[in-house]
Amino acid sequence: MPYDELEKKIVILGAGPTGLGAAYRLQELGYRNWVIYERNPYVGGLATSFSDSAGFTYDIGGHVMFSHYKYFDDLVDKLLGDNYTEIMREAWVWMMDRFVPYPFQNNVGYLPREVALECILGLIDAQKTPERVREAQTFGDLIDAQFGEAISRYFMKPYNFKVWAHPVDHMSRDWLGERVAIPDLERILRNTILEQPDKGWGPNNKFKYPLYGGTGGLYTPFVKYIHDHLELNKTVISINEDEQAVYFSDGEMVEYDLLLSTMPLDLLVGRLHHAPDQVRTAVEGLHHSSGYIVGVGIARPTPSEKCWLYFPETSSPFYRVTYLSNYSPHLVPDPDHFLLLTETSYSPHKPEDKNTIVDRVIEGMLNTKLIEPADLDRIASTYMIDVDYSYPVPTVDRNKALGQIQPYLMGRNIFSRGRFGGWKYEIGNMDHSVMQGVELVNHWLLNEPEVTWTPSAENAPILLDSTHTRANDTYRARSGHGKVLAGEVVRSTNGTHA
Ligand SMILES: Cc1cc2nc3c(=O)[nH]c(=O)nc-3n(C[C@H](O)[C@H](O)[C@H](O)COP(=O)(O)OP(=O)(O)OC[C@H]3O[C@@H](n4cnc5c(N)ncnc54)[C@H](O)[C@@H]3O)c2cc1C
Repeated sequence: MPYDELEKKIVILGAGPTGLGAAYRLQELGYRNWVIYERNPYVGGLATSFSDSAGFTYDIGGHVMFSHYKYFDDLVDKLLGDNYTEIMREAWVWMMDRFVPYPFQNNVGYLPREVALECILGLIDAQKTPERVREAQTFGDLIDAQFGEAISRYFMKPYNFKVWAHPVDHMSRDWLGERVAIPDLERILRNTILEQPDKGWGPNNKFKYPLYGGTGGLYTPFVKYIHDHLELNKTVISINEDEQAVYFSDGEMVEYDLLLSTMPLDLLVGRLHHAPDQVRTAVEGLHHSSGYIVGVGIARPTPSEKCWLYFPETSSPFYRVTYLSNYSPHLVPDPDHFLLLTETSYSPHKPEDKNTIVDRVIEGMLNTKLIEPADLDRIASTYMIDVDYSYPVPTVDRNKALGQIQPYLMGRNIFSRGRFGGWKYEIGNMDHSVMQGVELVNHWLLNEPEVTWTPSAENAPILLDSTHTRANDTYRARSGHGKVLAGEVVRSTNGTHA
């Protein structure tokens, strides 16, 4: 479809998956009057990867490619060609000194007998009052109502606090939508009594991973399609929403007709020139977690074929560990090396000491038997990434805040989308993000409705007043033996996370 240069000027802020999805779609549709600006010297945002001098490649947390869209699948095929691996979505929980297959509640029979009994009795008790599931207001209420006291105490609550770094009672239940399944008691009893594993993964449960370059290897190939419109090292410092102008730290100003912003929504609001107090204060309803991603490269062959593991207990700071070197042989310098990638959350509710996190991660790996004492001398590299914005937490006040902020922005032709642009965890994965960009362009150019992103909080007051009119992610690396050199799923109450 031909579009004229005189068409509206589209400006995209941020070249993470959302911005790249929009940019790709614009070039695919033959639109010409657009630019994408990114503050980093590289594309990919939170889905980028870093390599260190020892030859290890690290993602910003384990990135599993889920897809809910044919367009996304086709795009992945086009971008990766044959350069991908296929991995089984195999997940385990480590607790009480043993591995329990995921999903946890179906496999309580792996736990000590008395604990398994406690879990099952709690579940029976919870199922006597099914109305509590319907009536639950918070995520915490829902966990209790759905799983009973014991599963909640042993796994759901400690694990979810470790992931979100926010009390589960601050979180809403809305983000789970209709996907709240009542545990199948009969199946759990059968698994427990017959001592059989019940794994949530099977032969068809595979995901693709880039053969080269880690998760970021999916995003660098976008550049060849969009490079004429891409400007790196451009940091937005403010936006005059009345004059539809963006200001950059290098002094440049650009005007737009339509703006897609993918920077964190609270930071975007903070950069507006004219936002009314109601909108500025609404950001107090947006909460996020941060995370320390610590990778540890070890000079011995991988001891496991597992993909990733969940850690609900306090024996380790991390909530999840990925055997990243099992995803692609090109993430390690030598086939006889392996790479563990750990994720530890932090927030004002759950402070974590940054200075000791690498050492505590290694100690946690020993405690949880991920490594053995002799491995301490085999550590070939460690790498730490400090992610300021890691998870947009679906708190009880989120939708009200979004209901205040988004209408104000959209009334001024600013469309804030993506993991932290939209601030909706439930549509915060890579496929959702790419598609939010694609669908916004389809909306602008083809008049199609956005499907993935939709307005929240119908009941929240909508600002129609037309007279009106943090910190960056920091990436820190260290390598070698304990010396800092420099330097960030199917969603269910079970606790699978992305
Ligand atoms: C720990 C962790 C684990 C994850 N695991 C998974 C997973 O298993 N599967 C999955 O599908 N997804 C996963 N994700 C989510 C995935 O990373 C996101 O879906 C995706 O990166 C979001 O893309 P985005 O473009 O919306 O945002 P981002 O990736 O955050 O990109 C936003 C871009 O905007 C730029 N920017 C910000 N401020 C400015 C400014 N002032 N000026 C200019 N540019 C700016 C940033 O530099 C960045 O490049 C995970 C994320 C994390 C943090």
